[in-house]
Formats: sequence, C-alpha cells, structure tokens
Amino acid sequence: MKTIDSVLTEKRTFVPPESFVAQALLNREGLDALHKQAQNDPDGFWLSQAQELVWRTPPTQALDDSDYPFVRWFADGQLNITESCLDRHLSTPRRNKAALIWEGEPGEHRVLTYFELHREVCRAANALLKLGIKTGDRVVIYMPMVPELAIAVLACARIGATHSVIFGGFSAEAIRDRVQDAGAIAVLTADGGYRRGKVVPLKHNVDEALKHCQDVRHVVVVNRTGQDVSMHPGRDHFWTDLLKAESGRCEPAIVPAEHPLFILYTSGTTGKPKGVVHTTGGYATQISFTTKYVFDLHDEDTYFCTADVGWVTGHSYIVYGPLMHGASVVMYEGAPDTPHRGRFWEIIDKWGVTIFYTAPTAIRAFMRWGDQHPNAYRMDTLRLLGTVGEPINPAAWVWYHETIGRKRCPIIDTWWQTETGGIMVSPLPGATVTKPGSCTQPLPGIAVEVIHKDGSRCGKNEGGYLVVTRPWPSQLRTVWGDPERYRKTYFGDLKVGGRPVYFTGDGARFDEDGYLWVMGRVDDVLNVAGHRIGTAEVESALVGHPHVAEAAVVGRPDELKGQALVAFVTLRGGLAATDQTANMLKEHVVKEIGAIARPDDIRFTDALPKTRSGKIMRRLLREIATSGRAVGDVTTLEDFAVLQKLSSSDSDEE
Ligand code: ATP
Ligand code: MG
Repeated sequence: MKTIDSVLTEKRTFVPPESFVAQALLNREGLDALHKQAQNDPDGFWLSQAQELVWRTPPTQALDDSDYPFVRWFADGQLNITESCLDRHLSTPRRNKAALIWEGEPGEHRVLTYFELHREVCRAANALLKLGIKTGDRVVIYMPMVPELAIAVLACARIGATHSVIFGGFSAEAIRDRVQDAGAIAVLTADGGYRRGKVVPLKHNVDEALKHCQDVRHVVVVNRTGQDVSMHPGRDHFWTDLLKAESGRCEPAIVPAEHPLFILYTSGTTGKPKGVVHTTGGYATQISFTTKYVFDLHDEDTYFCTADVGWVTGHSYIVYGPLMHGASVVMYEGAPDTPHRGRFWEIIDKWGVTIFYTAPTAIRAFMRWGDQHPNAYRMDTLRLLGTVGEPINPAAWVWYHETIGRKRCPIIDTWWQTETGGIMVSPLPGATVTKPGSCTQPLPGIAVEVIHKDGSRCGKNEGGYLVVTRPWPSQLRTVWGDPERYRKTYFGDLKVGGRPVYFTGDGARFDEDGYLWVMGRVDDVLNVAGHRIGTAEVESALVGHPHVAEAAVVGRPDELKGQALVAFVTLRGGLAATDQTANMLKEHVVKEIGAIARPDDIRFTDALPKTRSGKIMRRLLREIATSGRAVGDVTTLEDFAVLQKLSSSDSDEE
C-alpha cells in the first residue's frame, strides 16, 4: 500500500566545521558509542543519563511498561527537579554566574545570577505555601515573558504543585477552559505585558475567565506595566507584597519520579486542546540529556531561545534544561520587530549570544524583511543555530546558515512535540553531516520508525506514518483527566508486531542514508490523482521561489482528481498578485517537483492564518478553499482579521 509520495529532492550536505568538532561534547565516535550503548541496553543507557540529575533517592529501574501504553520511568526514584536546576550550582563557581539575562521589549534589562534566581524561587515558593498551596495542587501561570514567569514555574516545582502555563497571548476563554479542565486553585499572572509596543491586559483577561471558575482561591499579580487593575479582596494579591516577608530558603518538596510536574495544553492546529501531562524524573532526564548534547552546551555559552515559556519549547529549553546545565539564558520579552526588525540580532550582539534557537516561521519572516537587518550586526559570537516547530524548507535553512550563521555555525533541526517533552530527532552538531530540510537521525535511546498503515516498515524514501516504537523518558503520561483520550489519540490505530505504537500525527520518510524528512501532518496530506503528497514538500518548492515569502497548500474536493491543489501564497519583493505571477509559480512548482504537484489554484494573501506559536492552520485554509469560510474551532488562532480577509476575498469572487 502506497502511503505518501515524496517529491522533494534536496541533495546538499553540510559537514560540521572542524573547529566546532574539536570542542564538541560529542564527535562522531562519541555519538556512535552512545548509540551502541542505547541499542544494546536502552534501560541501562537511560538509567545512566538519569544519574546526571540530583536525586534524593536515586532510581534503580528505568522503564516500567507493565500497563502499556501507560508507562512509568525511574519509578522508585525521588527528587525535586529544582535541585538539579538551582541548588546544585550554589556550591560551585556558577553560584554568581548569570542564570537569566532578561531583556524587556521597551529596552531595559535584568540579570539574575544562580544565587539570586534560587533565592527568588524560594521566596515565591514560600509565598505559595503560605497561601495554602500544596504538593499536587494545580496552579495556572499566565504571564508575559518576564523573569517572574520562570520564577513562578520553578516555585511551583519547588513545592510539588503541578503548573499549567498558558501562553500570554491567549484569550479569557482559553484561560477559562484550561483552568476548569485542570481544576486549578490559583492563577499567577501580571497586570499586563508588552507586545509590539502595546499593553496586553492580562489581569483583566484573568478576571473575565475567573467569573466562571469558582475553585480558584488565589490570584497573584506581578507588576509589569503598572496599569490599574481591579483587585478582588481576599482572592487577589500583588506578587511583591506576598514575597516581601519571605525568606530566600525553602526546603524542596521531594516527590516520586512519576509526580506530575506540569500540564501543557497543545496549541490546537488539529482541534480541541488536550492537557498533556508530563511527570518529573523521566522528563528531567531526557531534557538534561538533550540540552547538553544537542545544544553542545558549554559553561562559556550564552544561550538564546526565542520561544515563549508558554510553549513546551520554553519549558524544556528556556527554563528546565539550560538551568540544569548552569547556562546563561537570554530571555526576551517582546516581538522580533519591536522597535525595529533587527531586534534579535541586536540582542545577540548586546549579550554575546553563542547559541540561537528559533522557529522556521520566524526565519521566513526574517528573510522577507531583508538581509539589511542582520547584516547591520556583527553576530560573531554565534556558534550554533537551531530550529523547531515545523519542517524547515531548504531555502530558509540555507539562508539561516549563510545570513545568520555566516556559514560558520552548524544548524540543528530538532523534531519533537509537546507530547514528546524533549527533542527526539536531531543532528548532534559536532557529529552529524546535515542536509537542509532533514532533521537527520533519532537520538540515542529513541526508537522512531516510518510505517505503513498495516505496521510494516516503509522502504527508503517511501513516505508513511511517523511513529515511536519504544517508550521514552519524557513521554507524555496521559491526557489530564482523560486517559482514554490518551490511548485513543496516540495509541489508536497503528501497531508494530501486534503492539500499539505511539503515533506522532506526522508523515515522514527515511532517505537512502537513513535521514528523516518530516513531510507535514498526515491530516494535511494531499490526495491528487492517485498520489498522496505531503504539504511540506509542495510548500517548500513554492517558498524556494525568490518572490515567495510564505505558502500553505491544501486540498479541495475535485471530481476528476480526487483533490485539487490550492496554494495560499504571500509574496515579497514587489511582485504583483496577478494571473501571470500565479502561472509563473505554477510552472516553478512543476519544474521543481513535477506536474503532479502543479497547483490548480493560487491565491495571494497578505498573511496566513497561524496559531499563536506561528504554525499555519491548514485545517482552516482547507475549509476556506472548500466552502469559502472557516467554521472550525478558531480559539487558538493568532489573528482573526487574517481569516476574515481570506473568507471575504473568497466570497467576493463567488
Ligand atoms: P496541536 O498538537 O495542538 O495541533 P502542534 O502539533 O503544532 O499543535 P507542537 O507539539 O508544538 O504542537 O508541535 C509539534 C509538531 O510540530 C510536530 O508534530 C511536527 O508536525 C512539527 N514539528 C516540530 N518540529 C519539527 C521539525 N524540526 N521538523 C518538522 N516538523 C516539526
Ligand atoms: Mg501536535
């Protein structure tokens, strides 16, 4: 059975620079040795990685899958994750090293050393304890990207309260749904936050949401913008008032490895948000391992990840992972184009950033804005670049390599999900030859395969379902309050050797060198004249054209072909949105990947509907292409106006 046809042929390869390899924590031999160890004895491999953490009771066992697909890792171990992030550094020279380097959107900055961060986390933890918040309670955090956000996350972990961070761009409805679903008893927020020079009314949104959440007993408000907010007596407290009297020491709550560390609701490119549950010991182990080796993290590094702590990337690779390794973490509050389009590059120069981690959607925006912005900065401290969130098209990869990395920095294209908790497939920058657009190979200890519907393995370059065949330490443990949904969503249909396997939702192929290419979500796969084509490849061909900034491709029912291919395209560089341009782009796709992928219809638009984490919502575009308007769930959409425009321009034609 044919699963997904591959049409992309990217042949360039990039070898890690010698100077990088010379200082890397892992070179080719080191990586091979880890792979071998993990293959021979996966439990032993992960158990040895777990030893890198601070445990109060070290675990003696790794995976327990006796209740598969429900799993446990390191179940007889006990720890508090904040001891691995903070306390362990206090008796070392890192004690007075910068832990967080925070840059506000308006331009001010704050630096917290490990000693200070530990102190602030302890004070906040003591304040939460005083409010009566206990181990196992759920606490919602809804804040701008300020240091208190990281402090709040760690303070919850310190006392064993399960945190659920809601991205500060979400609405009151989204807060209400998530507070109710999690059964949260406290909300930590701020008066407001800055975004593109405007103030986002966070406290106001919380007030609206909590009209429908009677179980919330406490709201703690950080002063960020200084605007007036209404305070409900008895329920609402200012952060500074609460912390004022608290001591900078707080005994951590020691919890079993399987204690729920956090709930994180998925962003919703595919429907109703789910509360993904991560626990403590396994999560910490995989995050520690991946942060160290994938980012090749050294003590000298200054690390800048542009994600928001509201996404899993921010949890794992701004807060927990880098702090475990004593990194200096740059945290930026605002938008990349405020007050100007060189803001990220300015921050890189200002703080001497060495490792930079961002998303393909951002990289395509930088390309659209023009090279003059990065070219105005030296950025000669950079040594490693990373991406996450979507397949990166080779043209954007190469631009990133040349214009940001100045051909000097390896690129790690990291594939993972909210559900996987940590990175699963990625180059190791001192060991892996990279190919633009491929996330290369599974990490040691991670068993990823591409299979047909019947569970048989796909051949080389044959597209199929991307699955994980062996549980991994930072695997989600369940969907909060709905274990059946966990089983059905992730272990529903696909089996290997008779056993259900974790289905990622993505389509992918392994090439002749065993490199993995993610082809997009299988829900988005196009079915054109008997061929099943992944969206990523057609979109990659379109954005490979110098005048295309962004593209999204969806199918529309078509009597003859099964589906007609509709491309939504954003232009750059002054080309007019005419039929002539459309025809030129259709020919471009034919030339790049062949006649089967020729778009039937090209629609020009100023912007595409995206989630608040910047991912294209093809589901909505499919509805627009089919019926002229989108009717599905749009609560996680970034900008409603985009959708309205697309829908109305469509009905104008009719
Ligand atoms: P939802 O699950 O609510 O629809 P989401 O899937 O966008 O939202 P995430 O968990 O942040 O939420 O994203 C994971 C998905 O992002 C992956 O399944 C994959 O489709 C895509 N992805 C992430 N990193 C990469 C990468 N390096 N290459 C290709 N695709 C990637
Ligand atoms: Mg997903």
